[in-house]
Amino acid sequence: MIVDSVTVGPFEENCYLIVDERSRDAVLIDPGDDGDRIVALVARHGVTPTAVWLTHAHLDHIGAVSAVRREWPGIPVFLHPLDAPVYSFAAVAAKKYGIPFEQPDAADRTLAEGDVLTLGVSQFTVWHVPGHAPGHVAFMTDGVVFGGDCIFAGSVGRTDLPLCSPGDFVRSLERLLGLADATVVRPGHGPPTTIGRERTSNPFLTGELRVPGTARAVAPVPLGQ
Ligand SMILES: [Zn+2]
Ligand SMILES: [Zn+2]
Repeated sequence: MIVDSVTVGPFEENCYLIVDERSRDAVLIDPGDDGDRIVALVARHGVTPTAVWLTHAHLDHIGAVSAVRREWPGIPVFLHPLDAPVYSFAAVAAKKYGIPFEQPDAADRTLAEGDVLTLGVSQFTVWHVPGHAPGHVAFMTDGVVFGGDCIFAGSVGRTDLPLCSPGDFVRSLERLLGLADATVVRPGHGPPTTIGRERTSNPFLTGELRVPGTARAVAPVPLGQ
């Protein structure tokens, strides 16, 4: 499995390209902005993406969905249905931030907890990890999680946006902390990290800081679980 990425837009969002080496099947995760740069990333690998998987529908994760559809007409766009309102609201949110934004037509495929998505020889399990957004999901595969805006290197996603649920978010973080320490986290923003590193050094996960809006800290998880 080849993983490449390009960091796009004013929110510096990571759009990932995953390519199965043997079949050359490919998917895009979170084409957030700068469609031309995403198309160039795909072209460098000489592949044709067969799907767009969205971790959630904040504007910085969906801003290039239309550009991707123009380049690869008919490409299916997968989203958890609980994020449909977030998706519809994106253009309004962009206006509030004063940034240019192309509102994409609705996502046409749904994701649900436990879904298994296949890419060549790799399988990705969908985890519904709400809180930062109601329909936020993570894509789990062998030792790697594409985690969207849950766990970042040294921080966690925001919980003060419309439709955030800080309580749900804490539970989702605790669930992700149940992954093995060696699991690589490919987040929606910033560099990759590992569950083990964040478990021991991320102030929101060590109990040092509370997730804004919550009454309790993330419960520590025993090492190595
Ligand atoms: Zn987000
Ligand atoms: Zn984001």
